[in-house]
Amino acid sequence: MDEADPMKIDFHCHCFDPALLPAAYQQALVRGHQARTGNTKPIEPIVDRMRANMNDPDGAVLRQSLEGCGIGHAFVIGLDWGLALDDPAPSLHPLKQLEWATRLKALHSDGFFSFAFGIDPRRADAAELVKHALETCAEGVKIYPPAGFRPDDEVCDSVYEQVIAADAYVITHTGRQSYPFDLEKGRVEPYASVQRRHPELKLVLAHAGVPFWGAEAIEVAKGHPKTMLEVSGWHKFLENEPDRVRDFLLRAWQELGPYKVLFGTDLVSGPGMSSRLPLLQRWVDFYEETASRAGIDTVKAAAASFQNLTVAASRRAASLV
Ligand SMILES: [Zn+2]
Repeated sequence: MDEADPMKIDFHCHCFDPALLPAAYQQALVRGHQARTGNTKPIEPIVDRMRANMNDPDGAVLRQSLEGCGIGHAFVIGLDWGLALDDPAPSLHPLKQLEWATRLKALHSDGFFSFAFGIDPRRADAAELVKHALETCAEGVKIYPPAGFRPDDEVCDSVYEQVIAADAYVITHTGRQSYPFDLEKGRVEPYASVQRRHPELKLVLAHAGVPFWGAEAIEVAKGHPKTMLEVSGWHKFLENEPDRVRDFLLRAWQELGPYKVLFGTDLVSGPGMSSRLPLLQRWVDFYEETASRAGIDTVKAAAASFQNLTVAASRRAASLV
């Protein structure tokens, strides 16, 4: 995309080759569900079905779903959960994720997708992997503190330093998450200490603390010019608490301005995910209506945010021409 062709942008979505995610993740979801429902069916066939349902390695289903809602560009967010869930499978190594994303971007050679490289900073070679990813394929880096580390822990510093050196950005999971992940590591206050230690870091707080720490996320983002909020996850409350979601968005725009609030869907695509599409459309429409009430041009705001986040990648691409 370029400035002359502004469009709706999804700053946070997913498509996968299921081999990139540990099966322990789906096993935990099934066990949690069975404990609630009393269902005692064997877990493995259900896990296999869940993985088949999210099989979209080429991004074709994701792209069709997003374009169906008028979205013209998408940031695919990678995940590195092998270490946290104690699965050493070679397919879970971050380099495999990078190979996959490189292929995804080549398949969509019109530039529909940008990519954030998922890395667990506790990997011994995390900083080198991040440097390599940002030099080759990724526009940004995703970290996932609920996998068991604090975002202000020293273990993250070398990753942040590589991101700053590349003028790229970090997107990080905030807000709710459940076992086997650690909810406490989804809190937003520790990012104040990240900002103070790394004032040059471009930081995106994914999910903006939903649903517990929305007001705190706005405060954390307010003072630091390079911290932005991405608001996917709030859409899960559209059905039961639309006023709460509207109030949150209006307050975020009021406090932060239009460019520091990023639209996201957190859509996970796949052949078995079509039941999520009506909510996706509703979220796109709700966001648009709420923004127009606040006098905000979301397309213009997204274009400015996009330029800000991907400035280094554009420079890199230009140097290759
Ligand atoms: Zn996500």
